[in-house]
Amino acid sequence: MFSDLRDKRILITGSTAGVGLAAAKAFAAQGARVGINGSRPADAMKTELAQLRETGAQVDYFQADLTQSAQCKQLVEAFVDRFGGLDVLVNNAGGLGGRQSLEQIDDAFYDRVMDLNARSALMTTRFALPWLRKSASDSGKTSAVISTGSIAAREGGGPGAGIYAASKAWLHDIHRNWVKEHTRDNIRFNVVAPGTIDTAFHADKPEEVRARIASTIAMGRFGRAEEVAPSFLFLASHACSGYITGQIIDVNGGQMAP
Ligand code: NAD
Repeated sequence: MFSDLRDKRILITGSTAGVGLAAAKAFAAQGARVGINGSRPADAMKTELAQLRETGAQVDYFQADLTQSAQCKQLVEAFVDRFGGLDVLVNNAGGLGGRQSLEQIDDAFYDRVMDLNARSALMTTRFALPWLRKSASDSGKTSAVISTGSIAAREGGGPGAGIYAASKAWLHDIHRNWVKEHTRDNIRFNVVAPGTIDTAFHADKPEEVRARIASTIAMGRFGRAEEVAPSFLFLASHACSGYITGQIIDVNGGQMAP
């Protein structure tokens, strides 16, 4: 079904664990060439890389802290140096960055959360644009940007996570602007918005909080990273979604925003 992903050059930010790593595995299984990224040194990813390469996939790791615009630029340059171009960018790097209520928020916290979730996607996309434009022009098909949004973008986030939720709403919204400005370049922009997925993201939650959250999900359980990954494949594949842009796919087991 996703056969046009074979040999496609896919850069996935924030893919050392969780949703990003599951997406990297799913793309690699389709025969895509995949760039993995995180802020940790390459040594920390040895095992995961070896496992991915066992399948015959062309996968490389690119260390970059995407809260820094200069590193967003370096990441795109390093990926293009390695793979000769870029067909699909997945902006997945992100996270809570801690919890602070409105009365505690200071500039440093605001900057940390916005840099991690908004600046990282904005600047990586900015530096990727010429390559995505070229990919679309060379192939005569669309190239794609897919960002990981969140259910929190619509429901405001949990306690202390207001800036995180707002940063994801920012991300959902700016995609619509990118559609207006860059559809002429044959680049598609879509968002995958997970609900509650069982990753390190929820490591700070005690069992009773997890149970309470699970009870708000129609399917009665947290999702798995592997259950989010296929939506990235769908939105990356021109054959599957060449006429889909500016959309948000909710992957949340029926968890409704209140
Ligand atoms: P995770 O903590 O397992 O993954 C976060 C990834 O981002 C890791 O690979 C980490 O290395 C990377 N990262 C963190 N800081 C970085 C930086 N400065 N530069 C580059 N990479 C960095 O958690 P996850 O749940 O897999 O989160 C992935 C994405 O999904 C995030 O954008 C998160 O906001 C979003 N999300 C998660 C959930 C959930 O319930 N787990 C729900 C909605 C949205």
